[in-house]
Amino acid sequence: MKIHEYQAKEILRKFNVAVPKGKVAFSADEAVQIAENEIGGNVWVVKAQIHAGGRGKGGGVKVAKSLEEVRSFAEQMLGMTLVTHQTGPEGKLVKRLLIEQGVNIEKEFYVGITLDRAISKNVIMVSTEGGVEIEKVAAETPEKIIKEAVEPELGLQPYQARKLAFALGLEGVQFKNAVKFLTGLYNAYVDSDCSLAEINPLVVTKEGDVIALDAKMNFDDNALYRHQDIAAFRDLDEEDPLEIEASKFNLNYIKLDGNVGCMVNGAGLAMATMDIIKLAGGEPANFLDVGGGANKDTVSNGFKIILSDKNVKAILINIFGGIVRCDRVAQGVIDATKEINVNIPIVVRLEGTNAIEAGVLLQESGLNFEVATSLKDAAEKVTAVLRN
Ligand code: ADP
Ligand code: MG
Repeated sequence: MKIHEYQAKEILRKFNVAVPKGKVAFSADEAVQIAENEIGGNVWVVKAQIHAGGRGKGGGVKVAKSLEEVRSFAEQMLGMTLVTHQTGPEGKLVKRLLIEQGVNIEKEFYVGITLDRAISKNVIMVSTEGGVEIEKVAAETPEKIIKEAVEPELGLQPYQARKLAFALGLEGVQFKNAVKFLTGLYNAYVDSDCSLAEINPLVVTKEGDVIALDAKMNFDDNALYRHQDIAAFRDLDEEDPLEIEASKFNLNYIKLDGNVGCMVNGAGLAMATMDIIKLAGGEPANFLDVGGGANKDTVSNGFKIILSDKNVKAILINIFGGIVRCDRVAQGVIDATKEINVNIPIVVRLEGTNAIEAGVLLQESGLNFEVATSLKDAAEKVTAVLRN
């Protein structure tokens, strides 16, 4: 799950990670009120809250030097469609703003934490090349990213935090504050079950403060049940409506750009199916794992989700009947096809217990199924249907 910057900063505050004073606003009046009464000072930053980065370049981060400017930037941003390199060309509608204290930046750095699956450890990374796109730094000057892998049983060790702060070239009070910052950030990442915590930029000020100016936190969905407060941060406006619908039915659905709708049981088989569709020259329209017990209801819900995507021109159903018998699945597919009235080609490949009986049921159903005998056969059939 993803959250907004202002929500991530609320979490960071609880872990004693320094963030600027600030608060979310839903209207221009609220923005001015927050700037005047809750933040004070004479420089503020108005920041569009969307689940995407690169807002600065797209006009979604503006420095205001008066309350009138706070008002006019807030009016401009609320309701605008913000396009950044992370939103895609369609952009995202801005409905919330973060009104924040303007920070007097001396230098901008990068810090990120994520799980390195190859070594099964969390890795904390820093770079002096903050503020810019870190992907570019990683591609062009990877030596400018300094990494420390953290032993899971030990947590981030003080010497590691010092090493990273040193790599940023910090000294004195800035160094001390950076060590405190990195330790707090690591604690926030682990205790909140994050899959990513990224601060870009992390800034130091002339006064020696080390502050998170931006904050991105992603969470492991499977651990959200342990964090009701974080789960409450979910903003459905930022998610794909089809994916939300699918999660209501307990289906794992991810929309993609192709035209072959896939209905599969098990995430591993779903991935293999997508791979083989591509090998056969097709493009999958989605990842869809309907789970273990594929019955009429799960199959109909799957059809509804797949067919709401207007790009879908054919469907490939690939189900392995281990515990669930293939003839039962076939009956479910037949009933669901009748109920939903699917009028695009469907290729079905069922393998496992009673696969032969399932094939007969499908052939004799009077419906227009193409029955495939292997994964390769299925992928070839569905791409052939699309070529005709
Ligand atoms: P994004 O990554 O989406 O572009 P950021 O939060 O990183 O958004 O903001 C972009 C830039 O705006 C930062 O690199 C920083 O220079 C400036 N900025 C952001 N917040 C503040 C702030 N509170 N005070 C001063 N400058 C800021
Ligand atoms: Mg940023």
